[in-house]
Amino acid sequence: MIGHTPKEPSQTGMPMPQVPVRLAVAAGLVAGLAVLGGASAQAHDPLGLMMMEGLDDETRQTLEEIQALRDAALAEATANNDQAGFEFVIRNTATWEPGAIVQVCFFEGDQTLRRQIADVMNEWTNFGDIGFDFGPADNIRTCDGRTPTDIRISFSGVGHWSYIGKDALRIAPAKQTLNLENYDDQPPVGGAFNYYILHETGHALGLEHEHQSKFSTCEEEFDWPAVYRGLSSWSKEKVDHNMKRLAPSASLTISEYDRASVMHYSLPPRFFKQGQQATCFVRLNTVLSKLDKEAMAIAYPRGSQESPIAVPANQALVDAVEKIRNLQEAP
Ligand SMILES: [Zn+2]
Repeated sequence: MIGHTPKEPSQTGMPMPQVPVRLAVAAGLVAGLAVLGGASAQAHDPLGLMMMEGLDDETRQTLEEIQALRDAALAEATANNDQAGFEFVIRNTATWEPGAIVQVCFFEGDQTLRRQIADVMNEWTNFGDIGFDFGPADNIRTCDGRTPTDIRISFSGVGHWSYIGKDALRIAPAKQTLNLENYDDQPPVGGAFNYYILHETGHALGLEHEHQSKFSTCEEEFDWPAVYRGLSSWSKEKVDHNMKRLAPSASLTISEYDRASVMHYSLPPRFFKQGQQATCFVRLNTVLSKLDKEAMAIAYPRGSQESPIAVPANQALVDAVEKIRNLQEAP
């Protein structure tokens, strides 16, 4: 596992080719991997800029089980042409209920650092009916290891990663659900500081990786042998899991592919057959894109009169949702 603290990314990235921007708002599984690179990597050592996120195998297995159930639910919904049911399944198994106030705590870090991180996380909540509760402003909540606070942040694990939305609910209270490696010791500098917080918070709110969108061409553009070499600390399975295009079931609401999304990796040119010419070669995105913001509005609509616990007519969907909930809430 590579765990270098990234260097300050260049803010003078390459010109952005004029391509349609697309967005994937999705709910589902991401055992993430984040790699810093992009334009800045040319000026520095690409390997030194890499930072990974990962989940332990046991957790990944459970999440894959949840994913398999989502797949089954989607197949059922598709067979029955039950679009409303499909949406229900996804929304209720990975994203929080619209209007929810998600509780957050920190295992480490002083109040100043926690405030900085909270401020960045809150940028997401400006654009949908979803909120974070960090506790009193002058006494941001500390995780006690026993209370199952919704999102638990630690700086002590390896890499930057987060569970997807409500998948976090099945994690034992003693463990973090969102990790920002070394933020209390050697925090990333420059735009990378915000990037990791925004990216992992996006996962925690139910967003998938943008480069895995079914509308992206990243899978075709990757130089796969180079990708496997570059990520040699991961198994092939794990690389595929984080880099290959998502199955249709993993995507709820998908618009166009969005190169400006904070959910898109910034990878070194050598990961692509066409290097810097690849569509999926992007500089580090350090602010929410227009479509990132729209994603929140779609996932967490304001003033929705729809009951978040409406029951679909399709019994197979009801059963699948029940199974997924049981998995998520298992101790
Ligand atoms: Zn990620």
